[in-house]
Amino acid sequence: MDAKDLRSRLSVLLGADCLLTEEAQLEPFLTDHRKLYRGRTPAVALPRTVEQVSRLLAFCNENRVGVVPHGGNTSYCGGATPDESGDQIVLSLRRLNRIRNVDPLNWSAVVEAGCILADVQRAAQSADRFFPLSLGSEGSCQIGGNLSTNAGGTNVVRYGMMRDQVLGLEVVLPNGRVMSTLNTLRKDNTGYDLKSLFVGAEGTLGVITAASLKLYPTIRASATAFAAVPNPQAAVTLLSELRDASGDSVSSFELIPRVGIDLTTKHIPGVQDPLDRPYEWYVLCELTSSRYIDTLAPILEGALESALSRGVVLDGVLAQNERHREAFWKLRETIPEAQRIDGASLKHDICVPIAVLPDFVERASAWVRANVPEGRLVCYGHVGDGNLHFNLNQAPGASQEAFMAREPATKRAIHDLVRDFCGSFSAEHGIGRLKVAELETYAQPEELAMMHAVKQAFDPNGIMNPGKVLRSEPR
Ligand SMILES: Cc1cc2nc3c(=O)[nH]c(=O)nc-3n(C[C@H](O)[C@H](O)[C@H](O)COP(=O)(O)OP(=O)(O)OC[C@H]3O[C@@H](n4cnc5c(N)ncnc54)[C@H](O)[C@@H]3O)c2cc1C
Repeated sequence: MDAKDLRSRLSVLLGADCLLTEEAQLEPFLTDHRKLYRGRTPAVALPRTVEQVSRLLAFCNENRVGVVPHGGNTSYCGGATPDESGDQIVLSLRRLNRIRNVDPLNWSAVVEAGCILADVQRAAQSADRFFPLSLGSEGSCQIGGNLSTNAGGTNVVRYGMMRDQVLGLEVVLPNGRVMSTLNTLRKDNTGYDLKSLFVGAEGTLGVITAASLKLYPTIRASATAFAAVPNPQAAVTLLSELRDASGDSVSSFELIPRVGIDLTTKHIPGVQDPLDRPYEWYVLCELTSSRYIDTLAPILEGALESALSRGVVLDGVLAQNERHREAFWKLRETIPEAQRIDGASLKHDICVPIAVLPDFVERASAWVRANVPEGRLVCYGHVGDGNLHFNLNQAPGASQEAFMAREPATKRAIHDLVRDFCGSFSAEHGIGRLKVAELETYAQPEELAMMHAVKQAFDPNGIMNPGKVLRSEPR
């Protein structure tokens, strides 16, 4: 079937108002957030109902047309971008964006896949509940994308990742049949946990159309500090001390290097250095409680003062009001944007056991210093989860070509080191198209074989997001 024919059949199937075909309309769907890939597509489908998604997949399955699910397009591994063949259609979930139900007594919400994450947070809030997933991209990423990448973010230390928030899913399978486990049960041991397979599958097994999610008590008190620490080891020590001292109220614990402040204050309007003089490393930490209590700030202050007296902390400031708190968070959350504006970057989304993270940073940094003279390290992130964005940016004045030429060797060295530390080369950003070869390199052969078997069982014709996560043919 040629592109013209495909467009006219899809138009009949879905209705012309649910299909984009003009070049200008297709443009926003052809590149990923990091602009690593640029694909082509004959059409973008914009269904309004689950039934339309079902009809679309049944048609594509029958005619062997590849389908690329597309959420907020904020992911980092090119998972939502069609390939260069011009044969794959894009399926945007943005019109499936109803909050179907918020049930405060059941501590649950049922939302459609195209809901923006911030809208789900607000819906929970208006029922006096809290939905904890929180990312810098929450104003544009969608629940379907969060589920499909098993997103992490800044509250994982307390609440876990997106997988931990899921009670049930509604999924359209590649053959068009709808599989719903959309219950709101806390306990359900009836056979294999199929919904879990779709979380983190990056659209390669089916299309998520709705999810039932856990809600939590509203956050009523918080205390936030921005503190300078001598090194990552001190950050890990401070995390332990704070968890102990606060009755495990730590909800966020982020590591920020000096260069993170330099980049954000340079490129992002309104960002300021919270401290009077520069230090090499910082942490942004937050304690929260669902009780109206005024003891969090004294607990945080006391723990920081004790750490200060022992040299674990060098300096620090507590947010005195919501405006301060937001300013600290703006600094942290705009580091990726500042990195993007600053120039080319090499990104490594790694996770190692928290206790060995300082050792990892030391060894990996030493490798970078010795081997990538054109790069500067921008290593930051969710240290409370052992997850760092071990990134490099092109150094000021360095040649972009020379810097990018270091990419293969750098990736191999960093990921080999991650393996030596029993870690993961993809902590929260998934595989997409970018890390298919890395998965083949680092997964055990048994794991890889089972992944191909699962893919074959769900999607025997290989129509779902072809070329993402796994190659079409096992090697
Ligand atoms: C500023 C910024 C900060 C970020 N911070 C974090 C962070 O702290 N933690 C983190 O984990 N990530 C972070 N990210 C990455 C990104 O926001 C997450 O990966 C997010 O979950 C992607 O959601 P999305 O809706 O944009 O998905 P997309 O990019 O549109 O898609 C992601 C993948 O999911 C698939 N997909 C999308 N919707 C569906 C569906 N309904 N059914 C099946 N498959 C689907 C796509 O095909 C693709 O493979 C950040 C990104 C930015 C730009």
